[in-house]
Amino acid sequence: MIGDYHVHTNFSTDSRTPLNEMIEKGIELGLERICITDHMDYLYPEEGEFIFDPAVYWDTLEHAKTNYAGRINVLTGVELGLRNEADLKDRVKQYYDKITTQYDFDFVIGSTHALDYQDPYNRKYWERKTKEEGMLEYFQSIIDNTKIYDCFLVYGHLDYIVRYIKEEVKDYRSLDYQDLLDEALHTLIAKGKGIELNTAGWKYGLSFAHPKPELLKRYRELGGEIITLGSDAHEPRHLAYDFARTGELLKSCGFDYITVFEKKIPKFIKL
Ligand SMILES: [Zn+2]
Ligand SMILES: [Zn+2]
Repeated sequence: MIGDYHVHTNFSTDSRTPLNEMIEKGIELGLERICITDHMDYLYPEEGEFIFDPAVYWDTLEHAKTNYAGRINVLTGVELGLRNEADLKDRVKQYYDKITTQYDFDFVIGSTHALDYQDPYNRKYWERKTKEEGMLEYFQSIIDNTKIYDCFLVYGHLDYIVRYIKEEVKDYRSLDYQDLLDEALHTLIAKGKGIELNTAGWKYGLSFAHPKPELLKRYRELGGEIITLGSDAHEPRHLAYDFARTGELLKSCGFDYITVFEKKIPKFIKL
């Protein structure tokens, strides 16, 4: 298997998995590459959560890279939580520009995890909004973030928001949001950025991985070529989750290649 490009370990607030356990699971599964992308959500609503010391993270991963050389290619990535709030965005951008310049990551995911000072994972986000508003604002944040930030290579789990809405809306139609989503996709493509196929949707019991196939197709139709594959695993049993289903899905959406990154350089591997 080519590799998993979205993996969390206990550098992330929401994972207890030691790095070596995740890497060893990758070897057991026969992955050629494992790209560790722990959460860095600077100025996250709950202060002190979802951040780590980048120097320690970097050293630990560089060590693992050397230790496991020849058995699996360990890549150093990060998942940055992007923020579009007017009073936060400049500070967040400045911090992310700094760490992605200081450390030469192999791969950087940019994701919306929090907006309007809340994580939609948290009930509080929904207390002040209807489902429709919550969805629209989430997609609007992606549009804003794709314009504000340049530090990432691939936008993470584009429709992550549906994990946290009520049952009846889980079968949302991405076409209902096409204008918004098109704007985000246009900006990503113009900036040479990719999206990911994130299989955590299946893990959460949704009928689709993130994003929905229509969105994968739309990105491709508009000229997008960069697609990475990630499980968003937080524990070893979810590593490369349902990857066997992804080849056909991507082909059916018009992709012939999957993208891997090393030192931020894309390499296109035939599906
Ligand atoms: Zn994420
Ligand atoms: Zn993640």
